[in-house]
Amino acid sequence: MTIDEKVRKTLIELNVTDAASVEALFAEVRTAFEAERANLVSRRASSESERDRLCKDLRDRWLARKNGLLSSVDEHWLKLASKELKPVAGRQFNELRKVSPCMEVGELAKEVRVAEASSSAQAASTQAGISGDYWHDPNPPVAPSHDRQARAAQIASGTTEVFPPIASPPDLTLPGNRRPLGSLHPVTQMQREIEEIFLNLGFWIESGPEIESVYYNFDALNIPESHPSRDDWDTLYIDSKTVLRTHTSPVQIRALEKYGAPLYIIIPGKCYRHDNPDASHSPMFHQIEGLAISSDMTFADLKGTLDFFARKLFGEKVRTRFQPSFFPFTEPSGEVSISCIFCGGQGCRVCKESGWIEVMGCGMVHPQVLRNGGIDPEKYAGWAFGLGVDRFAMLKYDINDIQLFFQSDVRFLTQF
Ligand SMILES: [Zn+2]
Repeated sequence: MTIDEKVRKTLIELNVTDAASVEALFAEVRTAFEAERANLVSRRASSESERDRLCKDLRDRWLARKNGLLSSVDEHWLKLASKELKPVAGRQFNELRKVSPCMEVGELAKEVRVAEASSSAQAASTQAGISGDYWHDPNPPVAPSHDRQARAAQIASGTTEVFPPIASPPDLTLPGNRRPLGSLHPVTQMQREIEEIFLNLGFWIESGPEIESVYYNFDALNIPESHPSRDDWDTLYIDSKTVLRTHTSPVQIRALEKYGAPLYIIIPGKCYRHDNPDASHSPMFHQIEGLAISSDMTFADLKGTLDFFARKLFGEKVRTRFQPSFFPFTEPSGEVSISCIFCGGQGCRVCKESGWIEVMGCGMVHPQVLRNGGIDPEKYAGWAFGLGVDRFAMLKYDINDIQLFFQSDVRFLTQF
C-alpha cells in the first residue's frame, strides 16, 4: 500500500491498535517525505523556475489544505483515532508538522539549491579522490587559483576542490550608499545654546539626581508642608520620602553642601510633574536653573545678568521686564518677561497683545535656603533663576505644541 493510500484509511482500517504501531506508522510517513525531498534535490532542476515549480508541487502535495497528505493524516488518523491512541497520534502529528515542508516555496527552493550545490561539491571531490577533511588529509588539495581560466583548468583536472566561483570584483567607481546622519534634538540644541552663554560668563554646569528626596525637593528649599506643589496632584511620589524631582532647584542645596560659597552654576536637567500632556504641558520637561552666590551679590547683578542673557539668546533688540512674584526659596522674587520676539512689542497673537512674553522666574536666594545649604546668610548673598528649556525652544523655533518634541517624528526632527 502506498503512503497516499494509507493516509486515506483510518487507524482501525490499517489495523493499528497500539501506541508503538502509531509511532511506526508516522515514522513511515516521515521517511516517505524525506525520500521525496531527496529525490527533488537529486533531480537537479535545470532552471530556477523549474526548481520553484518542483518545490511548489512538493509543498502542495504535502501541505495543501484540501487533499494534502498532512490534512489527510489529520482527517483520517488523528480525528478518528480512538480515545487511547489520540494522545500519541497528536504528538506524532505535531512532530511530523515540524519536519514536513511546512515552509514557503521560496525557502524550500533555497534549501534545495544549497543541497544541490553541496552534493555536487561532494561528488566532485569524491571524483578527484579528495576527502573533505583537510586537517587529516595526507595530500591536501592545491589552493584554488585566483585567475579564472587557470582555476577552470584546475577544476577540470581535479587538482583543486570546487569552491563557489569567485564573485566579480566590486566596481569601485560606483557612488557609495550615503547613510542619513542624525542631528541634535531641538531641546538639546536649545540647552547647549543657553549653557554656552553662561559658561562664557564663568558659570559651570552641575547636575543632580532625577529621583530626589522630599527633603531636597521641598524641605531644604523652604517649601512648607502645606504648599500646594507638594500635593499628589502636582508631584509624582515614589514613596512618602521620595519623588521624581519637580524642578532642578534641589541641586542648589546639593551644590552648596558640596562646594560652599562663592558659587556660580547652572543646572540643566529633566523634571517631572503630575501634568496631563497637552500643547503646553508635558509630565516630563527640561529646566535650567542658575545660581550665583558671592559676598557682595545684589539684585542689580541678577537683572544685569539675565538682561545680558536674553539679548544674547534672542537678539540685541530684546528688552527685559522684571515684575514682583512669589517663590518660597527666593526673597524678593520676580518674574522675567522679554519683549515679544514676534511683534517686537507691538502686540500679537503669541504675546496676547501685551507685547511681553513671560519666560522665567528668579529672585534673591532666601536666607533660610542658604542656611540649609550650610552658608552663612550674613556673609553671603545670592540669586537664582529657573527657566523651561522646552518653552524656550518653542519660542525660538516658533513651535506651538510641546508634544512635538517627544513624539520622535522624523519629519519634525529633521527640520532642526
Ligand atoms: Zn507679540
